[in-house]
Amino acid sequence: MMQFNVAHLLKGTVGTSQQLTLDATFAPLEETGTNRVQGRIQFMHVNDGIWVSGVLDSNADCTCSRCLRGFSLTLQLQLDEIYLSAVDIITGVPSLLPDDTDPNFIIDDHHTLDLTEAVRQSAIVAIPMKPLCRPDCAGLCPECGSDRNQVHCTCQSAGRDPRWASLTKLLSF
Ligand SMILES: [Zn+2]
Ligand SMILES: [Zn+2]
Repeated sequence: MMQFNVAHLLKGTVGTSQQLTLDATFAPLEETGTNRVQGRIQFMHVNDGIWVSGVLDSNADCTCSRCLRGFSLTLQLQLDEIYLSAVDIITGVPSLLPDDTDPNFIIDDHHTLDLTEAVRQSAIVAIPMKPLCRPDCAGLCPECGSDRNQVHCTCQSAGRDPRWASLTKLLSF
């Protein structure tokens, strides 16, 4: 489902391209829990293989950096990868690939291209350093540790942090 046969593109001239509409779910990826992609991508025959580009809507399991709750984050994945052909499609001769070619970005000798690694890598990159369950997450109280999204504790420190000043004003009617 994340694998595509690109033989028809490789047989075409360089520059031949194909637009694909993707709507796939799959087993959650280990690092991010990503399990779906949706959107339009383009495959284009370039000199040594296929250039994959496009933007996909996707998801990831995250932990909020303020309140530490787990939540599902909507991600936009930017795909921009060149997949190299393992064999020349016309002659069947194995390609001379650079030594450092990532095997995940090689089109195998059945001319199958697997998007899984591209999705995995772009999901890792797309997750913000400090994910928030929502932009205005109130976080945990540094004094008592209660979740300020749910509990209005009476700890004094709430008033000292300027970030909370307006919230404190709102809450201390
Ligand atoms: Zn939060
Ligand atoms: Zn508190």
